Amino acid sequence: KARKKQEEKSTGGMVAYSEYKTGNSPLSIENKHMDPKKKKMVVLGTGWAGISFVKDLDPSTYDVKVVSPRNYFAFTPLLPSVTCGTVEARSIVEPIRSIVKKRIGEIKFCEAECTKIDAANKKIHCRSTFENSPVPSRDFSLEYDYLVIAVGAQVNTFNTPGVMEHCHFLKEVEDAQRIRKSVIDCFEQAVLPDLSEEEKRKNLHFVIVGGGPTGVEFAAELHDYIHEDLVKLYPGVQKFVKISVIQSGDHILNTFDERISAFAETKFSRDGIEVLTGCRVVSVSCDSITMKIKASGEVCALPYGMVLWSTGVGTRPVVKDFMEQIGQGHRRVLAIDEWLQVKGCKDVFAIGDCASVDQRKIIDDITSIFSVADKDNSGTLTIQEFQDVIDDIRVRYPQVDLYMKTNHMQSLRDLLRDAEGNEMEVDIEGFRSALLHVDSQLKSLPATAQVAAQQGEYLSRCFNCLEECKANPEGPRRFRGSGDHMFLPFRYKHLGQFAPLGGEQAAAELPGDWVSMGHSTQWLWYSVYASKQVSWRTRTLVVSDWTRRFIFGRDSSGI
Ligand code: FAD
Repeated sequence: KARKKQEEKSTGGMVAYSEYKTGNSPLSIENKHMDPKKKKMVVLGTGWAGISFVKDLDPSTYDVKVVSPRNYFAFTPLLPSVTCGTVEARSIVEPIRSIVKKRIGEIKFCEAECTKIDAANKKIHCRSTFENSPVPSRDFSLEYDYLVIAVGAQVNTFNTPGVMEHCHFLKEVEDAQRIRKSVIDCFEQAVLPDLSEEEKRKNLHFVIVGGGPTGVEFAAELHDYIHEDLVKLYPGVQKFVKISVIQSGDHILNTFDERISAFAETKFSRDGIEVLTGCRVVSVSCDSITMKIKASGEVCALPYGMVLWSTGVGTRPVVKDFMEQIGQGHRRVLAIDEWLQVKGCKDVFAIGDCASVDQRKIIDDITSIFSVADKDNSGTLTIQEFQDVIDDIRVRYPQVDLYMKTNHMQSLRDLLRDAEGNEMEVDIEGFRSALLHVDSQLKSLPATAQVAAQQGEYLSRCFNCLEECKANPEGPRRFRGSGDHMFLPFRYKHLGQFAPLGGEQAAAELPGDWVSMGHSTQWLWYSVYASKQVSWRTRTLVVSDWTRRFIFGRDSSGI
């Protein structure tokens, strides 16, 4: 009885399990309230993909269990603002139980980490560990009819020595809180008595490795924090402060339109933020970063006070292990088809940063679009036909569209300009090899919240009408194209992307090749990010944090 009471307490009374064991041995847990008629659905993760899936899912036909080591959803685009106290950590998180509260009892949540996916037996193994709790970790397993993997990705150090030990990352709310404390610690250390100028310079050198959106936004936030708030509180050290961004490519924000990259670089140079392009970090020690300048091959060391490592994402161990089981061990993320089902794994779906549509399939499809357009098999298309092909590819594969915008667009324009008369040569095999060559860059859809959320919404829509579609296979929702699938394949709609650049300025790439930069774009950023909050509670908190910052500045207590 006591054990049952304890169990109910720890799960908020939402789930009652018939048996459990502590310790490390996995065992099956059976839900007493489970309706045997309902299919068992297990969702892994409470990030952008998992939450948007669960939020819209109709649980009347499924027994839904959500498993995640985090019992809240975090609005990641505002994490850089948390690092400098512009927004408080609590303002950007919403408990999962509040999000699904309208369906309490129908959607169950377990605060645990999935340690293994056993697709052969349709089972997942989990471990629940509570920090600062005397209760030992608990292992259990859950059976499923449908599994939705939405565990996201983890930081990627590219096995660079010293990164794990000495660098900060910005992936979780706790990371942002640690960075906030570390920035203040650097200032407190710099004003200790008897420090040489060299030591002060080192303590106040903030280095960001990676010139992508996260690195750039953090550099901009930090610059504003230091120059608007901290220099007033730590007089005399302003001249020792330096912010450097190390980027291995030629430009920062290189996934954005080149006008935005150029705008960001000019703004950073005006603000005194050093941008070191064409440099690769080879190791990090407790007080300096060693990097190699690509052009000259020269190796140099940069002393630092704090480093943020922000260079792309890697695979979570549970996904890696699963990929090895299903013969995808050579890949970085799970290969899914256009219906978001894991390739070769019936009833297992993957959404968000941990998955991507199989690129080979895209390339083959694109090749066949060309072949179909080339009706007489001559390798020659009219300009109109060629443009139709390109438009078709863009609609079906927006990720290719994104790639073409940044890299291929120019060559396509040249191709059209150079075409004589109405005819042009399209070397289909050549086009295919070019795509295969860029295969590694054509990383399917970008790993963004926008993609993850749209995939979650799409998949829940499919599940919501799955039973109805099964009962009426010829109904209106049936996908007429292939005949194999009941639904239209997932299509990503790119709604644009923002890059806040500090000083109340931002840059935005909007649909239809629109680019907007400056103060008005920052106001657009405020309105979009306020409207995208998952609840009125977080929306109110975030807006009041922004207002507080305008009136009183940021807090510098470092807690
Ligand atoms: P996540 O949101 O990372 O969620 C993964 C979930 O899985 C988490 O709940 C985690 O606890 C859980 N999990 C992990 N391991 C396990 C396990 N073993 N078992 C069960 N659950 C597990 N994108 C944008 O579109 N716009 C932006 O402005 C933007 N800014 C960003 C700023 C920062 C600082 C960061 C880090 C990312 C930003 N992104 C942005 C990217 C965006 O956050 C990700 O693309 C998005 O979070 C991916 O969603 P996801 O659900 O796949 O993964």
